[in-house]
Amino acid sequence: MSMSASSKPSTVVVIGGGIFGVSSAVHLARRGVTTILINDGPVANGASSRSLAWLNSSRKRSPEYQQLRMVGIDRYRTLAAKYPDAPWLRFNGGLTWDADDANNEIADVFAHERELGYDAQHLAADGIAAATPGVDASTVPEQGAILNPGEGWVNLPSLIETLVAEFQELGGKLVTDAGKATVTVTNGRASGVTTTSGATFDADAVLLATGSLVPKMVSDHGQHIGDDTPIALLVRTKPVKTTLKAVLNTPRVAIRPTPDGALALDSAWSEEEVIAHGDGTYEIKESTLQGLLAEASKVLEGNPTLEIESYGVGPKPIPGDGEPVFGELQAIPGYFVAFSHSGATLGLIAGELLADEIITGRPHPLLARFRPERFAQSA
Ligand SMILES: Cc1cc2nc3c(=O)[nH]c(=O)nc-3n(C[C@H](O)[C@H](O)[C@H](O)COP(=O)(O)OP(=O)(O)OC[C@H]3O[C@@H](n4cnc5c(N)ncnc54)[C@H](O)[C@@H]3O)c2cc1C
Repeated sequence: MSMSASSKPSTVVVIGGGIFGVSSAVHLARRGVTTILINDGPVANGASSRSLAWLNSSRKRSPEYQQLRMVGIDRYRTLAAKYPDAPWLRFNGGLTWDADDANNEIADVFAHERELGYDAQHLAADGIAAATPGVDASTVPEQGAILNPGEGWVNLPSLIETLVAEFQELGGKLVTDAGKATVTVTNGRASGVTTTSGATFDADAVLLATGSLVPKMVSDHGQHIGDDTPIALLVRTKPVKTTLKAVLNTPRVAIRPTPDGALALDSAWSEEEVIAHGDGTYEIKESTLQGLLAEASKVLEGNPTLEIESYGVGPKPIPGDGEPVFGELQAIPGYFVAFSHSGATLGLIAGELLADEIITGRPHPLLARFRPERFAQSA
């Protein structure tokens, strides 16, 4: 880190109005730093607008990543205590099961989660109704399901709206519909931001939080961040009569409730069926959409007829090794990045820790594993 504790930045520019940019901007503003948040379009117009946004640390991952996710969930619990009635943030658990084949990991995952102290119950199909409502358990195989009562979901556009309102109340400057912004580097360090409309902003530090575009944008400055971003599809149904409360993760569909009584759906197979045209547009087959609705109906109690309200398609930011990328580029002092999958779960904590690093110049130990330089070393 280049900045000493005595050189608190006076102005920081954040590029990107998704959850990472907005969360970082509000944390900077809370700590009294003059902060400018710049987005190409309106806020929440990227991956954060079409996320399943299941808050979790389920299954197996590195201990450091597990810990960061748990701390991330902790911050959501604090937020939920502040907004107990918010329809956009609920902690009603998550229910997971696998296909009935050789890859079924449920027993293994349950043992692992139990060892970690991650709240988990291993349920047989006939035990599900008593534990969580709204599920058609006839589709759960004999290996059973895992209920994680501590999990939840957030509607990211609502959270972003709440955080942006606080940011502006604190005096933060929001610049939307700015077109593509780029980081200006002067004498080897980040010195500000320029937008395609010609506006320039000087800064002591810049945070690049442009979602899937982070690897491409840092490569313009000779930096390498591994990229494994796929195109993803999120389908939103019309409001539906269901008593479902938990987030469902099933072999053919993931489902979560929405603030307006509808459901959000995604899955790996439907994501793979998206056709990406060379010009940046996408095509979704009607059979993909109807197939996803049918899979969702099958796992819901009473098998309700589901209809599509809307869907969102586009890149889902995922680093090359699947783990988060947070912090300052060692080669370009003052140039910070945020690029990660699971940005719903990590959104609050990432913004908090990045703001802390930008302000104090002290690397935070919770982010030590997630530095951008690990890609340069492996390249
Ligand atoms: C289908 C799907 C399901 C998901 N499920 C989950 C889940 O269950 N749990 C979970 O924790 N996470 C989940 N995620 C991941 C999570 O949603 C993302 O990690 C998170 O939204 C990423 O936020 P971001 O701020 O990095 O990017 P974005 O939300 O994409 O924001 C980046 C912003 O930067 C803007 N921008 C880009 N380039 C520029 C530029 N040059 N100048 C100005 N602005 C620019 C974009 O327009 C955009 O608004 C899911 C994502 C998808 C798509």
